Amino acid sequence: MKRLAILGSTGSIGTQALDVVSANPGIFKVEVLSAHSNSTLLIEQARKYKPNAVVVTNEAKYKEVKDALLMLPIKVFAGEKSLADVVQWDTVDIVLGAIVGFAGLHSTLAAIEAGKRVAIANKETLVVAGELVMQRAAATGAVILPVDSEHSAIFQCLVGEDINSVEKVILTASGGPFLGRKSNYLVNVKASHALQHPNWSMGAKISIDSATLMNKGLEMIEAKWLFGLSNEQVDVVVHPQSVIHSMVQFIDGSVKSQMGLPDMKLPIQYALAYPQRLPNTYKRLDFKEHAKLTFEAADYKTFRNLAIAKDAMYKGGNAPCVLNAANEIMVHAFLQNKVGFLEMSEMIEKTMDSVPFIEHPTLADYLSSDTEAREYAAEFVKKSQLSM
Ligand code: NAD
Ligand code: MG
Repeated sequence: MKRLAILGSTGSIGTQALDVVSANPGIFKVEVLSAHSNSTLLIEQARKYKPNAVVVTNEAKYKEVKDALLMLPIKVFAGEKSLADVVQWDTVDIVLGAIVGFAGLHSTLAAIEAGKRVAIANKETLVVAGELVMQRAAATGAVILPVDSEHSAIFQCLVGEDINSVEKVILTASGGPFLGRKSNYLVNVKASHALQHPNWSMGAKISIDSATLMNKGLEMIEAKWLFGLSNEQVDVVVHPQSVIHSMVQFIDGSVKSQMGLPDMKLPIQYALAYPQRLPNTYKRLDFKEHAKLTFEAADYKTFRNLAIAKDAMYKGGNAPCVLNAANEIMVHAFLQNKVGFLEMSEMIEKTMDSVPFIEHPTLADYLSSDTEAREYAAEFVKKSQLSM
């Protein structure tokens, strides 16, 4: 039995992880569940999966959750600090990091310090502090397994290979809902439209990131740290069908890819069960239904976020941390119709120009760069026509 701490259990990844648990009785047991403010679903999940503990990070929701679970043998905690404590318990074998955004950094680092196996969906943690995260994992022996579908694909392609024989990795991008569109169209798009991803059903933040291609930029940085690659070894190709989840090109020119239908339960299951493959009855890929797989270059000029993120990767230091913080503020503002689609890139760039560069940041530097970037970005949002 593998005992799981599922952080962000009420989200898109969290709920699909619980589906994987339900489909594999006797293999996984839920030890900890955590969520921020969806107390109703957290309570429902706690009643169903009977974890040893639940943590509600939004302290205002504590009483409601505590009262609802009073008659059950479930410990209830509140706040980010409690979450960092609970992930270190001896009764936790695997921590699934499925919190969205910078908010996942603290608990992920805590799990790594305790030498846990960490299945990581929370890409922002690797974008912000990937170097530190990987260094600490190497020091404590924590094993980090990717959940993001592209990184799971690369990881699966690397099984049995020597990392030194990798020439480059090629991340596939669906292109999102606005593939092929130009600035004159994008200038007017609204959140409701941007939230409609053609191939994947995901949380709001990553859906907007997929529409702006920031998601692919974040994934480039994520890949760099997860696999210890140079900047030049990380490439992107647009593949609208989302059948090939990513590829690895080796020094002999051979290319391996991992394919499947777009279903996050697969990479989640692979990370949780690794190195085992578990049987399931999910719909299979039928090549006759996908007769045409196409590829094209990404449009870095129209989708500026991809170019900005790539630059941040090359710049290194605290640049990706600042990028991420500014992007979180922009996505939030765009969802509230306070900034326009194209304005997000402009304001992220302005934020990056405003926050001082730190070449070798400490954890404290990441925390302060994040705060500073959020303040600048929020100021720029206030100046947007839409906010007035
Ligand atoms: P979501 O918005 O659906 O869920 C987010 C979860 O995090 C919720 O359980 C929420 O309670 C929790 N949370 C939110 N703010 C928090 C805070 N401040 N403190 C603690 N917990 C908080 O998001 P999602 O789509 O499931 O994405 C989760 C992570 O996985 C993201 O980093 C995303 O980039 C990554 N990811 C998601 C998908 C996908 O298909 N959804 C695919 C690949 C990677
Ligand atoms: Mg992905």
